[in-house]
Amino acid sequence: MKRRWYPPHDSTTYAHIRAGKLPPIGSVIAFEHRALEILRYDERDDGWIAQVRRIHGPKLKSENDRAECGLRLRNFAILDVYKGRIPLCSCCGDPWPCTREIAEREAREDMQHLAGQMEKAHDGFCYSCGEPITTRQGKVLAPEANIELPGFPPPGFHTRWKCRDGLAAYDQKRRQHLGSQWAPLVSDQPSLN
Ligand SMILES: [Zn+2]
Ligand SMILES: [Zn+2]
Repeated sequence: MKRRWYPPHDSTTYAHIRAGKLPPIGSVIAFEHRALEILRYDERDDGWIAQVRRIHGPKLKSENDRAECGLRLRNFAILDVYKGRIPLCSCCGDPWPCTREIAEREAREDMQHLAGQMEKAHDGFCYSCGEPITTRQGKVLAPEANIELPGFPPPGFHTRWKCRDGLAAYDQKRRQHLGSQWAPLVSDQPSLN
């Protein structure tokens, strides 16, 4: 999944694009894992085309052999303009955080999530809140073995309000995992047509 990339917060300032308020020529902006130097502006009806040169980061599809291309700027767009030194990755030289760093960060978050889930993945316990499920409490049990922790039993959930977020998040993963085999764990939710 592709998400917007941000440079370290303290390395840039915001610039709101509007008439008379464009970052000066020579400014370096942070854009999608790249540092781009602004060479000039060409005015358009609904904004500007900034001609930019890539000075750090991976090649852009549309750039020419001098690493230059046009960047469409609509009125009121927000640009991240580097204030001074551009933080670069010490391994690959791309603007920080680089693609690999982000992937590693996400992997660490996944591991932390799974380590937390492992504590709750036992028969008779709620996979959302981690507390035991008593016979008096409403519960729902997944029909198949745990899909995020192979080898663990089918997770159960309290049906109470506070456990619904965990239930919904797990059911979303089930849906991705099971594809056309998926049927929702709870079907009592109203839905808009
Ligand atoms: Zn790197
Ligand atoms: Zn619970």
